[in-house]
Amino acid sequence: MKKEKKTERTEREMPVETMKNQEECEDKNCHVHGNLKVRGKTFEGTVIKKFPKRVVIEFERMIFVRKYERYMKGKTKIHAHLPSCMENQIHVGDLIKVRECRPLSKIIHFEVIEKIKGGREK
Ligand SMILES: [Zn+2]
Repeated sequence: MKKEKKTERTEREMPVETMKNQEECEDKNCHVHGNLKVRGKTFEGTVIKKFPKRVVIEFERMIFVRKYERYMKGKTKIHAHLPSCMENQIHVGDLIKVRECRPLSKIIHFEVIEKIKGGREK
């Protein structure tokens, strides 16, 4: 995985209130304010769906097909928990980073870590 420069993460489009809300949240499943530990794999992907406290990200990856001994381009979808302190920052179309955590529900075992790049800004 290629390394991205930290400077790419701009915060200029965020209103001041969101910056204040970022300080605290009452979500106990927040990796910053709660007691959720994140460890394991990290993925970057685009948000394709947003629900309260949950986002679905999608990214492309190469899948090895044994029959043909070749790679094909495939897509992977991941459901990730969205802590309430980041809810205002993340929208559909954004590029975000998720990290593995303990299973929070049947389909959620990832946590949104940070926003890398805003998508189509309205
Ligand atoms: Zn939080």
